[in-house]
Amino acid sequence: MTGIVLPDSRIVVQFSCGAASAVAGKLALAQYGATHDVQFINAFLANEHVDNRRFLADCQIWLGRDITVLADEKYGADIIQVFRRERYMKGPHGAPCTKLLKRRQLDAWKQPGDVMVLGYTAEEADRLDDFRDRNPDRPVIAPLIDLGLGKEDCKAMVIRAGIALPITYQMGYENANCIGCVKGGEGYWRAIRADFPEQFEALCQVQDDLGQGSWFLRYRSGPRKGERFPLRDLPDGPIRRNEAIPACSFFCEMAEADIQQDQAI
Ligand code: SF4
Repeated sequence: MTGIVLPDSRIVVQFSCGAASAVAGKLALAQYGATHDVQFINAFLANEHVDNRRFLADCQIWLGRDITVLADEKYGADIIQVFRRERYMKGPHGAPCTKLLKRRQLDAWKQPGDVMVLGYTAEEADRLDDFRDRNPDRPVIAPLIDLGLGKEDCKAMVIRAGIALPITYQMGYENANCIGCVKGGEGYWRAIRADFPEQFEALCQVQDDLGQGSWFLRYRSGPRKGERFPLRDLPDGPIRRNEAIPACSFFCEMAEADIQQDQAI
């Protein structure tokens, strides 16, 4: 793994306001902090829980490093604006929000030779392999996988460091993504409808205005199995706050493509 880290490489940690990226950054700093320029970057999104900023501030103290916050200006760092202006919410190549509000910021900021630190956990080793296969020219390291650390290990390490996990974790969610992440499935969206009705309604209104092309949930059984339906028609059923959704990193669309394959009907 370390062969790709050259003496003059910058080590770039994508801090997503999740426990995994915080621990991955801490480990990268321990391994490379004395020998390399280790940078932390975060993409601000207006749709994340406000507590994510508190978590970021706490992590800066824990890491002993500033985290550079990048914020999109074209769309006000707001997924709703992205959906309305791009006129879709999720497509075959991923979601426009992550591409325009995260990936584009990173592309403008990065330098040749940067080595990216991914917060993939031990449970996501296959995603790392897939990422490397698809992006052979992007040097990445994944300290959590190297050390066999899983999601629960990361949460425990953050708590042991005296840092309260982001509020969405405390509510039972698996990540600190936007409130209403388009990568979620039915159980997750029922949780968002129950916990964050205003944000849920705002996304319903986007779909009301954009129409059928913006629908991304599908009936999973019954006579309409496979057909898409709008969030507003989400049937009652189990609420799953802990549905497995990858944290939204700068490479989010890669992870999303994996999830789409997993959930293909
Ligand atoms: S967390 Fe979800 S909704 Fe937010 S930018 Fe990432 S993919 Fe889009």
